[in-house]
Amino acid sequence: MLKGKTALITGASRGIGKAIALKLASEGANVVLNYVHNEAAAAEIVGQIENAGGQALAVKADVSLFEEAGELVSKAKDKFGSLDILVNNAGITRDGLLMRMTEEDFDRVLEVNLKGAFNCCRHAVPIMVKQRSGRIINITSVVGLVGNAGQANYAASKAGLIGFTKALAKEIGSRSITVNAVAPGFIETDMTSALSEEIIQAAKNSTALKRLGQPEDVAELVCFLASPKAGYITGQVLSVDGGMAF
Ligand code: NAP
Repeated sequence: MLKGKTALITGASRGIGKAIALKLASEGANVVLNYVHNEAAAAEIVGQIENAGGQALAVKADVSLFEEAGELVSKAKDKFGSLDILVNNAGITRDGLLMRMTEEDFDRVLEVNLKGAFNCCRHAVPIMVKQRSGRIINITSVVGLVGNAGQANYAASKAGLIGFTKALAKEIGSRSITVNAVAPGFIETDMTSALSEEIIQAAKNSTALKRLGQPEDVAELVCFLASPKAGYITGQVLSVDGGMAF
């Protein structure tokens, strides 16, 4: 379905980003996996994709830095000749109640989760506009829709990403570029493994399906949005949350 397309996924060394990279590769896309620390994990995924007959490249870059995001986008385009799909997935948490949250914790979460998406889009969109096609998928969160105590910084970054998605969809829709946001609920990754058993149980109880999601659940929707089948869907926020916020 994605044969010959180039997909760049930020934060693809683990968790949801890894599942998205493997899924898009399994559909035939050439995949560029971004990471910031975990070189060995990213290299292993590249090997896995190549062993299955696909093409992949791992690129280290901190997406919160404008220049590094630019180099990341250039490397993707130079390696495979186009840039068709950008998935802004890299994200972090620095949880704490507002009364105790440091300025650094607020700024860093906004820098990675929101400015990181701006940085990558700022460099990728001119390429997509020239191609007159493209798919941008921003990984937001259910927390950006409904908020969560102890995550004022994270909720602000993810709500900001939703506004960013809608504005950009209106700006570049005329060039056949779609921009959508995917809002996962509680998905089993390193990000959620740090949470207490009590919080995990509360999360399960707050979903209609009474369980956590898997990274692959999110990857399926991202793959659909990246595909030709989703050509008339733009500016949307689609949840994969087991029935948590509705
Ligand atoms: P994760 O397991 O913690 O993985 C985070 C990924 O982001 C890693 O690949 C990490 O690279 C990368 N990363 C972190 N900072 C970066 C930076 N400055 N530049 C480039 N890459 C960076 O997270 P996850 O649970 O898969 O979450 C992925 C996305 O889904 C995030 O945006 C998160 O907010 C969102 N989300 C997750 C959940 C959930 O329940 N898990 C729910 C809703 C939304 P390294 O491995 O190199 O450190």
